[in-house]
Amino acid sequence: MKVRVAVNGYGTIGKRVADAVARQPDLELVGVTKTQPSFEARHAVEKGYPLYVSGDKGPAAFEAAGIKVAGTVNDLLGKVDVVVDSAPDKVGRLNRELYQKAGTRAIFQGGEKADVAEASFNALGNYDAGRGKKSLRVVSCNTTGIARAAAVLRNQWGVERWEATLIRRAADPAESKRGPINGILPTMQLPSHHGPDVRTIFPDLSIATTAVVVPTTLMHVHVNHVTLSRAPTDAREVLGAFRRSPRFLLFAPWEHVEGTPQIMEYARDRGLGFNDVMENVLWEDGLRLDGRDLYFFQAIHQESVVVPENIDAIRAMFGLAPDGATSIAMTDRALGLAAA
Ligand code: NAD
Repeated sequence: MKVRVAVNGYGTIGKRVADAVARQPDLELVGVTKTQPSFEARHAVEKGYPLYVSGDKGPAAFEAAGIKVAGTVNDLLGKVDVVVDSAPDKVGRLNRELYQKAGTRAIFQGGEKADVAEASFNALGNYDAGRGKKSLRVVSCNTTGIARAAAVLRNQWGVERWEATLIRRAADPAESKRGPINGILPTMQLPSHHGPDVRTIFPDLSIATTAVVVPTTLMHVHVNHVTLSRAPTDAREVLGAFRRSPRFLLFAPWEHVEGTPQIMEYARDRGLGFNDVMENVLWEDGLRLDGRDLYFFQAIHQESVVVPENIDAIRAMFGLAPDGATSIAMTDRALGLAAA
């Protein structure tokens, strides 16, 4: 029996999660929702995804646009075992009432505060914390990126202290109302909220983060300084640990990946759906070790990095895999990721 899944909110994250669910052998995508007709709504129907109406506007606008809908979000919730909420920031919390009324398990996204769900989730970081839960929150794109790297470094050498600066993209590529288009905006909350968010995965991690927003839409870049508990032999050993871990993609100097433009060009060449890069991206020559002090950059494709995590969250919830490593391997094989 496949676990039946709904995706509520077919936007940047939702349409990717829907495609990822549809590709898993143990999950069934039962339907997706839109609040109003759009090219994305039309595309969902063209892909064969039953489309339901969420929000309070009803089906009239869809009918006027000639887009066939299968019912309301409540109809959809009655047909599934779990809903992946991918509505905008803070709307997930409002939707939670619908899910509770319908008795449907729910996965929320990182735009919600941690207490929206029973636990926060990252597959490499705390897969077992998701087991049997009725609700989970997949942490945000930046938190996912740090949690994955922390999982690798903690397992191998332990982490005494982590300091990171997050260089954040101003908007997603399809957004035309956010900025800045010329400027660098320091996030005046010091340290930024990302460090505490990572501690929803690793409560004992000593971490402080700061953030700036810059005029780019492609990816975030993290500048990390980590004091490890034990010194690795050399930088190659650290690179090897990242290279062997799923959900990491490393570029060698000869590949001439200078920054995020070439990473996205690689993504277009690789041709996964939406030209996504769901892995943390590291540069071999962007990692240095000085005793126990590790310095490294990583780039995070904000639109897609959480997508495989949503799949693993469902598996953890329903006990569909014996452990996190098995779930991650299943997800990555189905998605065609590098380390599958
Ligand atoms: P988005 O705006 O691209 O998509 C949200 C979708 O939800 C839209 O289709 C919108 O019409 C729909 N929606 C609006 N109200 C709704 C409602 N009441 N019920 C159901 N659907 C509704 O947003 P997004 O970027 O996909 O973000 C979704 C969540 O994922 C947020 O919590 C966000 O913080 C998180 N997230 C976003 C990114 C990113 O970079 N875009 C990365 C990681 C996590």
